Amino acid sequence: MLDLIYDAPAPKVIAGAQHDWELVIGLEVHAQVATKAKLFSGASTQFGAEPNSNVAFVDAGMPGMLPVINEGCVELAVRTGLGLKAQINLTSAFDRKNYFYPDLPQGYQISQLYHPIVGEGEVLVEMGNGTARNVRIERIHLEQDAGKSIHDMDPNMSFVDLNRTGVALMEIVSRPDIRGPEEAAAYVGKLRQILRYLGTCDGNMQNGNLRADVNVSICKPGAYEKYQETQDFSYLGTRCEIKNMNSMRFIQMAIDVEARRQIALVEDGQEVVQETRLYDPDKNETRSMRSKEEAHDYRYFPDPDLLPLEIEQAWVDDIAAALPELPDEKKARFISDFGLSDYDASVLTAEAENAVFFEQVAEGRDRKLAANWVINELFGRLKKDDKEIGESPISADRLGQIVGLIKSGDINGKIAKEVFEIAYSSDREPTEIVETEGLKQVTDTGAIEAAVDEIIAANPAQVEKAKQNPKLAGWFVGQVMKATGGKANPAAVNQLVTTKLGL
Ligand code: ADP
Ligand code: MG
Repeated sequence: MLDLIYDAPAPKVIAGAQHDWELVIGLEVHAQVATKAKLFSGASTQFGAEPNSNVAFVDAGMPGMLPVINEGCVELAVRTGLGLKAQINLTSAFDRKNYFYPDLPQGYQISQLYHPIVGEGEVLVEMGNGTARNVRIERIHLEQDAGKSIHDMDPNMSFVDLNRTGVALMEIVSRPDIRGPEEAAAYVGKLRQILRYLGTCDGNMQNGNLRADVNVSICKPGAYEKYQETQDFSYLGTRCEIKNMNSMRFIQMAIDVEARRQIALVEDGQEVVQETRLYDPDKNETRSMRSKEEAHDYRYFPDPDLLPLEIEQAWVDDIAAALPELPDEKKARFISDFGLSDYDASVLTAEAENAVFFEQVAEGRDRKLAANWVINELFGRLKKDDKEIGESPISADRLGQIVGLIKSGDINGKIAKEVFEIAYSSDREPTEIVETEGLKQVTDTGAIEAAVDEIIAANPAQVEKAKQNPKLAGWFVGQVMKATGGKANPAAVNQLVTTKLGL
């Protein structure tokens, strides 16, 4: 299938360093569950609502209020786990993670420390250069999001918006299997793609619906392999955690600058201290935020308001049966069944909507031609107009008509672009456009021959030149195409010109 080199060597980090260093990265991705209501209340999760308008009493931590689990959130977490080929735990449980924060009115966050709903899985991360890596997923647990403190609305006061309080998050924890900044971004990209295919998280990073804590450490070559053999973390360097990253570009920049900071420290004989850091994109540096807290600092204990969560295998099986075709499988199918290149298949499967559109265009038609038209013409045109595939002014069926008309020889590639442009900016059917505008390709060799004869007769000097230099035949082809309004079959013209000039 895919000709990939797995476990490609980790890229070396060079920062004017005395030694070779390698990077080790593990990500905790927080993905907002795409349900309309929160994890333990019926309040809306709608983004951008009036501050504090989507808050149930339980979200505000009112005394005596009890959490009731949202079955929809559980279903989407299971669906996500299945999509990541992970183990689903039929019994999981919720714990209280206690800490004070002005935007956390309960005084604790309900999470799943000891018994997460999803166990080990994996994500295939392709680097687009023929290399790939399987990044292991350690666990996915469900937890509540916190609210938002707003410090920039008033010079003397801070405000609290509890709309986000209690919204369901899936925390997707990877093993430290990621080996460089680009890989980290590719991993987040792949995760985002899978979540969007599954419909379990909208992946909107700008709104913070997908964000990552990035754990970074450095080690000497060979140390990581020892860790892999033994799963003994002591072979790895001390990690720092960079909190709350919601941009692919910043993730890469933060890892790079953090790695350089750690290398400089260690080579200076100092030690990396395990801590939580923040990335400042303006200064391109990471800054210490707080020393790393351990699980025991939070006084985790099972939430007494919630029974352990028991789900049935039959329900999990139903969810599994309803899973859509996922990106890896879809891409492999496009390559093996349709003969598309790795690149074309990647582009067409980047978003589920792209793939659906492409398959409609390609249905019963030349797949490669359809792929070219979707990628080069349609995507190019949409990009120019800053439009999404869902807003395409030309439907898949109509683009398919154009592909069909080219394949049947009714129009040539050049005319097809004209037809595309007309169909794209009007509400007309390509077949009708070709009829009405008289754009049908002239394949009648009699008509083409007449045009060729005429041009040859009118340009004796050019004929002489072309006989010396056969490359000049192209000029005649151009003239004939012009004379026929671009509608002549280029192959037929070529053939006739060559014969008539005696080349
Ligand atoms: P915490 O919540 O305390 O940060 P978690 O277990 O939730 O701990 O997450 C730890 C994350 O750090 C995981 O993604 C893991 O892969 C990663 N990690 C652990 N050790 C290292 C290391 N030495 N270097 C880089 N990442 C690491
Ligand atoms: Mg963490």
